[in-house]
Amino acid sequence: MSLTTNQKDTIITSLNSKSKVVCPFCQQNQWTIGEEIVSANSVSLAGSTVLGGPFIPMVQLICNNCGFISHHALAVLGIKIKD
Ligand SMILES: [Zn+2]
Repeated sequence: MSLTTNQKDTIITSLNSKSKVVCPFCQQNQWTIGEEIVSANSVSLAGSTVLGGPFIPMVQLICNNCGFISHHALAVLGIKIKD
C-alpha cells in the first residue's frame, strides 16, 4: 500500500514535532520517505517465518547520504490503517 501525499505530510509534521531526525550513522538530516507501507515478518523461536500474524504498519525513512533506513510505527505518527 502506497502512502498518499497527505499521509507523508502528516508523518513529516509528526516527526519534526518530536525531534530533529538525524541519521545515527552519518549525522546528516536529509531523508526520503519510502513510498510503501511496510512491516516486519514475525518468526518463531524455531526460526520459521510466521505468515498472517499480527504486524505493525511502518514507514521507512531513507537517509539520502548513506542509505541508512529507519522504520517508524505509523499509528504513533497519526496514520491509521483501514482493513
Ligand atoms: Zn546517513
